[in-house]
Order: sequence, then C-alpha cells, then structure tokens
Amino acid sequence: MNTHTSNSFLMSGQDYRESLKRYKPVVFIDGQRVQSVADERALQPGINALALTYDYALKEQYQILMTAVQSTSGKRVNRMSHINMSSGDLLNKLEAVRLICQETGCAQRYLTHDALNSLAQVSARLDDAKGITTHTDKFLNYMHRIQDQDLVLGVAMTDAKGDRSKRPHQQSNVDTYVHVVDYNAKHNGQHGIIISGTKAIVTGAPYMHELLVMPCRNMSEQDKDFAVCCAVPIDAPGITIVARPAGRPGEKLEHGAAPFSSKYGQTTAVVMFDKVFVAMDQVFYAGDWEHSHHLTYNYATHHRQTCIAARAGFGDLLIGAGALMCEANGFNPENETHLKDQMVELITITESFFACGVAASVYGKADPFSQSFMPDPVFSNIGKLLLATKIYEMHRIAHYVSGGLIVTLPGPDEDHNPETSGKLSDVLRANPQVPYEQRIEAARLIEDLTAGYQGGWYSVISLHGGGSPAAMKQEIYRNYPIGSKVELVERILERGIGETPHPLAHIKNRAITQNKQPGKCCDQGCTVPGQPVMVDLPMTKK
Ligand SMILES: Cc1cc2nc3c(=O)[nH]c(=O)nc-3n(C[C@H](O)[C@H](O)[C@H](O)COP(=O)(O)OP(=O)(O)OC[C@H]3O[C@@H](n4cnc5c(N)ncnc54)[C@H](O)[C@@H]3O)c2cc1C
Repeated sequence: MNTHTSNSFLMSGQDYRESLKRYKPVVFIDGQRVQSVADERALQPGINALALTYDYALKEQYQILMTAVQSTSGKRVNRMSHINMSSGDLLNKLEAVRLICQETGCAQRYLTHDALNSLAQVSARLDDAKGITTHTDKFLNYMHRIQDQDLVLGVAMTDAKGDRSKRPHQQSNVDTYVHVVDYNAKHNGQHGIIISGTKAIVTGAPYMHELLVMPCRNMSEQDKDFAVCCAVPIDAPGITIVARPAGRPGEKLEHGAAPFSSKYGQTTAVVMFDKVFVAMDQVFYAGDWEHSHHLTYNYATHHRQTCIAARAGFGDLLIGAGALMCEANGFNPENETHLKDQMVELITITESFFACGVAASVYGKADPFSQSFMPDPVFSNIGKLLLATKIYEMHRIAHYVSGGLIVTLPGPDEDHNPETSGKLSDVLRANPQVPYEQRIEAARLIEDLTAGYQGGWYSVISLHGGGSPAAMKQEIYRNYPIGSKVELVERILERGIGETPHPLAHIKNRAITQNKQPGKCCDQGCTVPGQPVMVDLPMTKK
C-alpha cells in the first residue's frame, strides 16, 4: 500500500518489490539471463534488505531516524536520500544505518545518501567556479525526483581500472574505465552524451532503479573523457549487468546452514556500458577533469563515515551471538575472566570505530559551496581504517568464545535424521538450560556471519569497500594538521621566541609545517557545528 507522509511519497517494501517490475535490465547470474529481477530467487536476500529500508521508514517508532525533512523542498523523505544540514543529521544518519545493518548486515541504500550528498557539494562547487547556477539547479531537479519517487541508486564508481600502475588514458583497453564517447549526441530529439566502459563493482545493481556513474579517482587533463558523472536508468539500452547471487539464497539454507545470509545479503555486479545514451538533464558533468577529485573525495568521506555505522550494526550481531554461544556452552562471561575479556574487546572495537563516526558528525562542517554538512574527514577515515583491519579481530573473537563446533557441527539435514538426531541432541547439549536446537542455531549463525562464504564477504567489504586502507591512511595524513602540532612543540621549546631567530627560518615552504588546516581545537576557520540532536529512541547500539 502506498502511504503519503505529510507531503512526501514513501514506498513500502512491497511497493519497492513491485516497482522493480517496471524495469527490464539485462542481468546475468551464473551464466543465465535473469527474466525478472523481482522474482529471481538468487537476488531475494538483497531485495529483502532493500525492502526493509522502505518498511522501516513507514514504522512510526523509526520515522524520526529513517526519514528527514529535505531543506530544499520542505518534504519528508527517506533518510537514505536526504542531504545533511547539521551535525545532528549526520548523527541521525549514523544511527539509522546502524539500525538497518543490525537487521540486514548490509542494506546498500545508504550509498544513495552518500552519492547525493557528494554530488550536492560538487554541483555547487562547479557553479561557483563557473559563476552559474545550472549545475545546482540540475542536481536539485534530479534529486527531488529521486526523493519524490522514493528511488534507490546504485553507485557505479569503481572502474575496472586495468593496469593499476597506469592512468586511465594510458590503458591498453579504453573500456577499463567509463568514458565519454560522444559529447554531442542526439536521441529521440534529446541532446546528450554517449558513454562506454566498465564499472567493476556495483553493490545491488540488478535491483536498483538507476545507476549514478561517478569517476573513481582524480583525473588529469589527458584523462578528461574519463571525468564523467551522470545518472542512467538501470535498463538503459547498452547496459549489461553480470552479477553474483545475493548472499546465500535458497530454502534449504534458510532452514539451516545459512540462517542469516539466506535471508539478507547483497549481490555485487560488473556493469558494462556499451554506447549508452544519457540525456543532458542527467549529466552532472562531462569532461570537467579539474573537479573529478572533489567528487571522489566528498563521496569517500561520506561513505567511510557511513561504513562505520554499517559495521557497528554487524558488531552488534556478533556481540549478541557471541554472548548466546557463551551461555549455550554453559558460561556466564561475567564470571569467566578470559571470556569476559574477549567480549569486552569485541565491544571496545565496535564502539571505538562507532565513536569515530560520532566524532566525525560532531566535528562535521558546512560545505562552503553547498552549505550541506560534511563529516570530519580525519575521524571518518580513522573509523573506517579501524573497522577495515579490526574486522578480522572481530571474527577471531567470535570464534574464540564459541569453540570449534561452529564449523564442525553436523549439517542441518542431520537434524531430521531419525537415526541420529535424538542422540546428537543429547550428547551435543552443553548448558542444561539451553536446548540443543538453540545451541546449534547460535553456532550456525556465527558460522554464517564469520566462517563461511558470507563471513569472508564481510571481511573483504570491510577492508576494501569505500576504498582500500592505503587510501584512508593518505587522507588521514593529508587532512591532519601536523603543522599546527609542530608549531605547538616549537613554541614550547621556545624556538624563534623573543630575540632568538627561529633556527629553520631560512627554509622556505618547510614541508613539516605546511599542513595547518583549521584544527578541532582552534578558533580560526572552524564552522560552528550544528546542534547534535540525538533522538529519543531505543538506541540502536543498546
Ligand atoms: C563487497 C564490496 C562492495 C562494493 N561496492 C561498491 C559499489 O557499490 N560501488 C562502487 O563503486 N564500488 C564498490 N566497491 C569497490 C571498492 O570501493 C573497491 O574495492 C576499492 O576502492 C578498492 O578497489 P579495487 O577493489 O579495484 O582494488 P585495487 O584498487 O586493485 O587495490 C588492490 C591493492 O592495490 C593497491 N593499489 C591499487 N592501486 C594502486 C596504485 N595506483 N598505487 C599503489 N597501490 C595501489 C591498493 O591499495 C590495494 O592494497 C565494493 C567493494 C566490495 C569489496
């Protein structure tokens, strides 16, 4: 049923499923052409996760988290397509993403949020550079349509990239990066561009309504044709999507070996563009190579902060499942020091990277061009770096507290074998108060989340999703005001104070003092953060 909330339109999960039937994308999974995405079993875990983001926005208790009022239209929209205007918005986004990832592991839809927020910033910057307003006008028209129709966007940013040591224009196959083939194309009386090339990793591609194509790196003048940002419907002629199954779909898995990933999980797809026409009103820039790095930088900062909340939701699942395993094994971690230590470590890891997300919100700043709010880049990158490396530690702890049974238990078919099941349920019971069925249920959940295919998937998405660790380290160093800290210490050492000249005064452009960007503890240059508004809801992390 469609529901009108104040003056906006929000779909239910069922509406979203139905909406997919309006599109006819070319999708292949495991070598087979998919006839109907909405009905494809291999994609149901991904569609289920997306549907939850729609249903939760309609739940009264989550409305304040899962929806927000869009400042440019005054309409209440799904938070996953909302532009942040304060630190409070950034905090609420964090809580909303954590909430949906507790349920689904990964729900993709926050990528729409991260892409729209970065595009808002870059459109305003382009306008400022050119002294016009067309980019922002075009972006707002587009974004309001996405919000009003409650659509979800796939982020097509990571190109196939070919030889990593070469720039886009140096690749032997030009199609390893998406690029403009024709800047002046006409189709059905419309003016536009034509693009070709390959985006290698697009989460959820088959069950998106549209794709947002964005450059994945900064471009030089010679890479001009690769500096393209535009939106295309998922079934635009010339697009071919080659996808994997989402999670581990299948009825048999649902009732046993994969209790979580048979219900929720994401597909990732290679998306090939072969001379795809894009109408001009969907082209945000083409050939503006000087500005491509602003889009990647802004998107990465929003997305890394979002990843923090997503993985905190995953941490919540491991904390709960780890505690259940301790109980099923006959222990209360409170009384067993080494198990308590492990549980405390798991909690500390989860909450420390989440705290970086909170700090990134609190120290967020208004973008000087768009006035929308941007999370602090240092805290966003530190939080993402922490989760990228600590995910393996989180898995280890889940394994430590659970024991080897998580990968050695008899399979679910044995549960119904009259010759063995009765005996197994007797001998494999531990805590007399916890039935065998509940013990193996918790064990299989931990296997599914940490030790099977899906566990590996969560490791790799944590490590590389939103950029590999080297990218985060570069951003932390680049944005951290080391120069101010050097000056602080030099002042304490009384260098260059009073009559004594500074010993290094003769060095021009001294490298170590270059970065004196306004810090978090100085008065100059900082934009006063908006009011953090923590909503009065059952906190997702409790
Ligand atoms: C599950 C999952 C979902 C994802 N979803 C999306 C999505 O929806 N949309 C999207 O656009 N992207 C998505 N990504 C892609 C993600 O952003 C990339 O994986 C990430 O940016 C790394 O790129 P890559 O995988 O091509 O690895 P590579 O770039 O090949 O990196 C491999 C290693 O080589 C290093 N390296 C690479 N290039 C250089 C260089 N020039 N110099 C020195 N070292 C280098 C890297 O630091 C890394 O250690 C997803 C990734 C995963 C795993």
